[in-house]
Amino acid sequence: MTVHDCHCHFFSARFFEALGREKYGASDGVTAEAVARELAWDPPGDAAALSDRWVDELNRHHVSRAALIASVPGDEESVAIAVTAHPDRFVGFFVVNPVSPAGLDQARRGLQTLGMRCVCLFPSMHRYRLDDERVAALFELAASHQAAIFVHCGYLSIEARSRMGLATVLDLRLGDPLALAATAARFPQVPVILPHFGGGFFREALMAAEACPSIHFDTSSSNGWIRFVPDLSLSDVFRRALAVAGPNRILFGSDSSFFPRGWRKVIHGAQRAILEELGCEEDACRKIFSANFERLFGA
Ligand SMILES: [Zn+2]
Repeated sequence: MTVHDCHCHFFSARFFEALGREKYGASDGVTAEAVARELAWDPPGDAAALSDRWVDELNRHHVSRAALIASVPGDEESVAIAVTAHPDRFVGFFVVNPVSPAGLDQARRGLQTLGMRCVCLFPSMHRYRLDDERVAALFELAASHQAAIFVHCGYLSIEARSRMGLATVLDLRLGDPLALAATAARFPQVPVILPHFGGGFFREALMAAEACPSIHFDTSSSNGWIRFVPDLSLSDVFRRALAVAGPNRILFGSDSSFFPRGWRKVIHGAQRAILEELGCEEDACRKIFSANFERLFGA
């Protein structure tokens, strides 16, 4: 069965350098290689080399396509290099902070000039409400470019930051899927991706999906948030998400990011087994693993 992965992070040299700058200040002595060494991860090389490495990795696991996320604001050019080099394999996603003064212009450039297809929002990290008019302005922009919006709601942990000893000051209340639904409902033509089934706000994520047919779930990561909900298994999560959103609005994702770990085969294996156990029909599985991705981002 064809597999497209809707959630991979492209940890470029710029991503590592941003971590280094945050930890050690603006001195230009901290290279991506030094930060990678500190993290005990492989150095990324330049964006073209990293994109080739990702292609090899996807080939090794028989993954056809992947969404690559530029994970710090301003790094979308790295992902654009990867997408330009391998347009049949990658779709570009990029993080924008809609309340920063340059946010909307950055988003416009990413969608218009760099060919990105999805804007990613992290409201609890960048501290804004999802029903803020500046978020609505991004939805309007996405609508005019047939782009999608990805919104990280719920619990958030960023491994690179914690391994570097960098504090991440979050306001988790701001990652509320119901506030997202308030804005998403105004732009029904904009596909919305809610990763990790809402990241712990599962009930709210289901309600948001019920209220807004544009809201999709991505299945990515180990979904460690289920420990916040008593007696909930990942199998229950899939069953309830299928019951509310249906197979048309669930997208497989792995949340792969760094090397040498590479593509997270174990996430895929566990989720395939759950869908099998739930008796998910082949056509529904095909939607989750590839067809929905193609509907949103082209065949
Ligand atoms: Zn992620």
